[in-house]
Formats: sequence, structure tokens, C-alpha cells
Amino acid sequence: MQGNNLENITQNAEKEVNSSDAPTIVKTDIGAIDGQNKCPKCGSTEISLNIKNGKLKCEFCHHEFEPEHVTGLESDISRLEGQVIASGASDIIASTDDVVTIKCSSCGAEVVIDTSESTQGRCHWCRNVLSINNQIPNGAVPDVVLPFKITKDDAKKMIEEFVGKRQFFAHPKFKEEFTTENIMGVYFPYMVVDINSHAKLIGRGEHLIRRYTVKNGDNYDTYYDAEVFAVEREFDLSITGLTIESNSDRLDNNSHDKTNNIINSIMPFDIENCVKYDSNYIKGYTSEKRDANVSELKGLVGAQAKDIARFAANDTLEYYDRGVRWDSEHLAIKGEQWQAAYLPVWLYSYQQVKGDKSIIHYVAVNARTKETMGSIPIHIPKLITVSAVIEFMSFLLMLSVDWDYSFLFLALGFIYFWIMYQRYRNNDARHSYEIETQREIRDLVKSDRFVERRNRLSNSTMIGANNTRITDSSLATKVAKNISQRTEGENNDNE
Ligand SMILES: [Zn+2]
Ligand SMILES: [Zn+2]
Repeated sequence: MQGNNLENITQNAEKEVNSSDAPTIVKTDIGAIDGQNKCPKCGSTEISLNIKNGKLKCEFCHHEFEPEHVTGLESDISRLEGQVIASGASDIIASTDDVVTIKCSSCGAEVVIDTSESTQGRCHWCRNVLSINNQIPNGAVPDVVLPFKITKDDAKKMIEEFVGKRQFFAHPKFKEEFTTENIMGVYFPYMVVDINSHAKLIGRGEHLIRRYTVKNGDNYDTYYDAEVFAVEREFDLSITGLTIESNSDRLDNNSHDKTNNIINSIMPFDIENCVKYDSNYIKGYTSEKRDANVSELKGLVGAQAKDIARFAANDTLEYYDRGVRWDSEHLAIKGEQWQAAYLPVWLYSYQQVKGDKSIIHYVAVNARTKETMGSIPIHIPKLITVSAVIEFMSFLLMLSVDWDYSFLFLALGFIYFWIMYQRYRNNDARHSYEIETQREIRDLVKSDRFVERRNRLSNSTMIGANNTRITDSSLATKVAKNISQRTEGENNDNE
């Protein structure tokens, strides 16, 4: 067993050296047809998603199509080697023309489709639907799509319920203007990444032995005795379906003018049910185009993978109830596989204008799982008034209570303000990818060596513990800025 591990590690080292190798591109649009996609039963081009079962359906004869799946990608993540990129996730080529002209095979007319808006168009003469299903290097055609499953009516209910629970402090103008009539079904672009990796973490962990109080003058102080261990964890880790926004505008979760974090927070999606891209899935919905390349997202994905590894290790660290401080963390990525995907979201958006600034609030529903999150504009004067009343009552309470710490009551008004603000705006909502991403540990090697006992510690948790830390969200903002700078530069070059 030990011999095998050593062998693996040597192999990994070799692979890391070879990491400059060009990625393997897996072509995923094999057999895709641009132009008329006809129903095999009746020849109609009117084909759209049947939301009830996720299949495509002919609108004339009701023939249903079995979903197609992408082939050629590795399904056993533990066998992934090097960098594999599905062709729909290939680099965007700046000079690519978004506008594609297709000759209608029925009447010979030339039909112009602007792929930055849609991958379908209707022939003006014979009314047939023409689709683009072959990938073009502009980010408009992904490898896979996850079809809508939640109906518009169900999404409306979820959004109304969410907003209904947040009425008291909602801005009066918002209350007046709120309607779910104009909610939109949107396919947002994401990269879905599978990772085969090997993790090694080295550090110190603390286990609580005793907690006690000692009289110190008039006060009692709390102290802790703890055992310190040298901790090591080494394991193989498969990460399946790590999902990341691939449009720079959405990737920026700290954006000041739109509440992107709301859309981020309704992940995860059941991406294992993705099907091969077909423009007919998009019919009746809108979609956003990808503008990010694999190389631009790689650093962010690597950082998130490291977070996932750290949290995977936490499952083996329950004994260290005071925390673990990793002094060295290493995640070697042996193989990774990237796919471009469209994932379905029902979206309500509301623009709030404040002076010369404006902010777009979203209420978003995951159109697979119904998970709902939102940001509601707050009537700030009302929230301040109520918080001030609470603050005043707390002040009276403080005067009437005989307790050393009665000054703590003075925090109540501020706590109330903060809790209500979070409840309406949810500005810290986000996808907890470090816990919610599918992962599997294999060949775990544990080492826990007693170092010393430390007594009379005044901190309730270990100083410097970092085992529940995650990558700062400002990294995503930085990556998003770099991408939008590139695309702006390219646009200027084209002009
Ligand atoms: Zn038909
Ligand atoms: Zn035609």
C-alpha cells in the first residue's frame, strides 16, 4: 500500500513537469446541424422544450426527442490527466463575427442570425426556424445545457413569496412597482470543471481539555487547557462539477451596480443532468454569452479547489475542536476537465435609482431546484427610525437592570438594524462551493502526533486557526476586471 502511494507521488511529480503540454480538446458538437432542424416524424422545424420532462418536443405532431449527451469526456474523475477542454469552452477569438448568414434549405433565402442575441432565427419567407448548433469561437454556443424544469408560474410564486415576507421595510416605490409579470427565463453561461488532485496539508491542531474560571480581583476570567498536535493529512481528491460564472459581468460578485451575488447564491445546479447543446432548448428564453476563457478562470478555479480540499480535510478533524492551523497546504492538480454550460435561472430585476447612481436588485430562482434568493430595496428612514426606538428602549432597560454588563443592551438597536438589512438585501449571500461541490476523498493518510499540553490559554479558539478560511471574493472581482479589460481592448481594436 505504502509502495503504491510512493509510486503515485512520483508519477504526479512527472505529470506536473509535463503540465506545459497543450490541452486535449474534445469535440462536443459532432453531428450538430446549422439550419433547419426537422422533426423526423413530420418535418416541422417548430421544436421546443417540454418543461415537464426536459425533452425536446415537436409542436405539431408532439413527437418527443430523446436527449442527447456529450460523448468523449472522462466520467471517472480519478482517471483525469492533464488539461481536457470540451470544444465549446475553447478560447474566444476576438475577430469572430457574431452575425452568421444561413441559407434556408426550403426556399433558398438568406437568413441573418446575430448570435450575440440568439442562436435561432426565422426565415422571413417560408417561416421555418433556423438554428446554429455548431460551435463558433465567440462564446455563444456552449457544450451543454441544463433545461428549464421549473415553470414560469412556479417561479412567480417563489418570487412573490420571497418578496411577500419582506414588506415592512421595503421601499414604498418598490412595493408600488413590484410585479412578477416581467420575470425572465435566462440561461446564464458557466464553466463546469472536474478536477483530479492530490492534497497534502501540514500544521498544528488544538483539542480542548478543560475550561474553567479563575477569580481575578472582582472579576472572573475564563481559561482553557488544550493539547497541541502536529497534524498531517494527505489524500487524493476528485472534485466533480465545480461551477463558475463565465461572463465577466456576472463573475463580479462585489459589483456596486448589480446584486450578482444573489444569482451566485442559488447554485448548485444538478449539472449531471446537462444535455448536449441544441438551440431548441433556448427557444422562448434568453441567454447571455460567455466572454471568459479557460486560462483566465484557471487561477480562480485553482483557489476554489484548494478551499474544497481544505473543507474535505475538515471531515477528518473533528477531534480538533479549537481549530487547526495549516502551515503548509499543497494541492497538486493531476487532471482537469472544462465544459461550457448554460444553466437556467428565473430572474426578476428591479432598478433602484439613488441620485445619479443606480443599483439593480435581483430576485432569482434556480429553475431546477427552486432555490430562491433576492435583494429588496430598503426604506432606510423607516429602518433607522425603528432601530432608534429599539435603541432608546434598550437604553431604558440598561438603566433599570442591575448587571455589570448592562451596557451590552446598547448594541441591540445596531444589531436589529444589521439583521434587518441582511434579511432584505442579502448582500453576504453566496454559493458555498467549498461545502456544496461534489467531492470524493481516496487513499487518506492521517498523522496526529502529540506535541505538548498548553494551560491557562485565554483564547477560546486556537490562535491562527485557518482550516475554515476561504478565498476572498475580491479575487473573482479581479479576474472579472481583467476579462472585461481584454474584451474592451478587443472591441476598440475592431473599430
Ligand atoms: Zn413533428
Ligand atoms: Zn425559407
